[in-house]
Amino acid sequence: MIYVDCDDVIAESTSAYIDIIDREFGIKRTFEDISSFDLKVSFGMTQEQFNHFFEVVHSREEIMKFKPIEGAIETLTEWMSQGHEVSIITGRITDAYTSTLDWLAMYKVPYNHFCIVDKYSRPEMDRSIAKPLEFLHSIDIDFAVEDSLTMAKYLADKLGVPVALIDRPWNQGNSLNPLITRVTTWGDVKQVFTERGIRN
Ligand SMILES: [Mg+2]
Repeated sequence: MIYVDCDDVIAESTSAYIDIIDREFGIKRTFEDISSFDLKVSFGMTQEQFNHFFEVVHSREEIMKFKPIEGAIETLTEWMSQGHEVSIITGRITDAYTSTLDWLAMYKVPYNHFCIVDKYSRPEMDRSIAKPLEFLHSIDIDFAVEDSLTMAKYLADKLGVPVALIDRPWNQGNSLNPLITRVTTWGDVKQVFTERGIRN
């Protein structure tokens, strides 16, 4: 089964965050400025600003404005037509569950399974909906696409899963597990997938 993250893998989330934070607080950042996965750090927000941002960004209105990332939908469609099983596994908070499903439907993003996994131990998670991180040990993942360095390392180091890590300013780092390949586009993701010889 193929594990595919949602934010900044299928959805252009960070570009949307940049617009929201400018609009709400007048804080201006470029994409390259977002060098920490911790958005409070990357945007220099106070805790209060961050809390407000976190609520706004998970509202249905904002989620529905996200654009799909070029090549993502086409690749998932191709994989599924080849008989691969695609699981969208997001760390988004559980309040965004329904809006996320609606967003995926709006863009006709193809997938077999969808679930929220508490990847980052977020207190906002409803544990009756989100699965714990350990859940990933119970499913058979052949390949993963992520933008989080923490999750890429977890998948490669703990689960031995080959990962295509979409290169972003917030996931820089050296001496990666050889199972992790840094890629730029979904075209590169497809190439790594083929080179790894993933079968269904
Ligand atoms: Mg992500």
